[in-house]
Amino acid sequence: MKIAFNEAVTLNNSTLENDLLLCEKHGFDYIEIRLDKLKEYLLTNTIEDLKRFFSSSFLKPLSLNALEEFTFRNETDFRLMKNDLSLMVEVAAAVGCNTIVAVPAFGIEKDWNVIKQETILRLNDFLSVIEGTDLRIALEFVGYPHGSINTLDKAKEVIEEIGHPQLGLVLDCFHFYGMNSSYESLKTLSVNDLFLFHIDDCEGKLPGVLRDHHRVWPGDGVIPLERIISALQEKGYDGPASVELFRPEYWELDAEECIRTAKEKTKNVIQRMKQ
Ligand code: ZN
Repeated sequence: MKIAFNEAVTLNNSTLENDLLLCEKHGFDYIEIRLDKLKEYLLTNTIEDLKRFFSSSFLKPLSLNALEEFTFRNETDFRLMKNDLSLMVEVAAAVGCNTIVAVPAFGIEKDWNVIKQETILRLNDFLSVIEGTDLRIALEFVGYPHGSINTLDKAKEVIEEIGHPQLGLVLDCFHFYGMNSSYESLKTLSVNDLFLFHIDDCEGKLPGVLRDHHRVWPGDGVIPLERIISALQEKGYDGPASVELFRPEYWELDAEECIRTAKEKTKNVIQRMKQ
């Protein structure tokens, strides 16, 4: 299994420019580029610069993330979000990246049917923007009690209802564990619908209590990563595992130490699977 780096790991202690150099140095296969770091990068660099980097690097772009909280926005906010999508489409096309992550809203006290219809409406809107390209939208459910889509089942329900080849899911181990998503639903997930796999781990707090800052290096926590990876391998998933953490403690480290450790810890978990 190849290994990708999600820039959330160094959210507050590095830049895109620096992440690119360090991920290349430490042998990551892919990088998931965060929208905030991309915008910062483009203040002093061009899309052409990014393209030039990837044309001579071993490291390749895996995704652009994310269209955050894309549901239940007012029309002006949603139009601004579509501007972000346009930027991502332009960058993705230039650097040869084909996946854009979309994260639904939090704290929506509405019936599931209303949430589902709004999510479908907005996703269809994104799909109309990428029509005719080879880009894909990956919906990421968030395993928080107040996440509007917080289990794998619910995320599957949405993408299966739309049934579009350019729409799939992100499976994030932390979010899968965070609200007790079922292994049954993982078993029945079509491998064609699995666009990205986020690997992470967490402290031993109970599902429902866990938040992003409880994430720890893969292998250092309580998530049964082997069980999840085995389930993916059984269905023939051959994409990378992308390490994604949001731990403030790790942002205190030097960026290179973060990137080196992320690679080692993730590699160790994957190597354990082979034994
Ligand atoms: Zn994730």
